[in-house]
Amino acid sequence: MQNPTLSTTTTYLTCSTCHTNLCFTSSVISKGFTGRHGRAYLVSSLLPTNIIHGKPTSRALQTGAHTVSDISCKICGSNLGWKYIYAEERAQRYKVGKYILETGRVRKVNYWDGRVGDGLDEHGRRKGEKKGNGNGKVGWEPGWEDLGDDDGDGEGVEVDLADEEELEAMFAGNWNKDKALRRRERRRLAEEARRKVDSNV
Ligand SMILES: [Zn+2]
Repeated sequence: MQNPTLSTTTTYLTCSTCHTNLCFTSSVISKGFTGRHGRAYLVSSLLPTNIIHGKPTSRALQTGAHTVSDISCKICGSNLGWKYIYAEERAQRYKVGKYILETGRVRKVNYWDGRVGDGLDEHGRRKGEKKGNGNGKVGWEPGWEDLGDDDGDGEGVEVDLADEEELEAMFAGNWNKDKALRRRERRRLAEEARRKVDSNV
């Protein structure tokens, strides 16, 4: 579908409010983290000129006590997430120096040879339109946010980088294929049950 003669495609996450570039999507380490407003990305680096850092503060997160610095967009001031400054627990220290970006506060934008993509597919529809319901995902390429999901065949099982718990287990050195598969199966069943409930509404 993509024109092979266009060689330089750059993809950014931008501020969903003012569209300032925040980071390259290649800086996204995991898409399975949790922010204050729902799902979030763990990102290795941001474009420093477009970010304002708040004062470091202690915060009790789901995964224990951390020192974090809130980050916001330099242009419009929107809160975007935080930077991990320090983690009390050794197993959490891999996150130090990295960033949380709330998925609801950012948007993915493609540039082709320096030109902003129009976000339309070959039928002229806005990409990901079915998912677009004001949750910040309008214009996303369908499936991009699901890249890390297991394909379910059980062969060549690798760490699911989209899953916060598996990522933590990996950094702590106790990730284990069987445990991961059991966990994914439980998650799949829970997901199925939730879908059934949803479709009855
Ligand atoms: Zn902004």
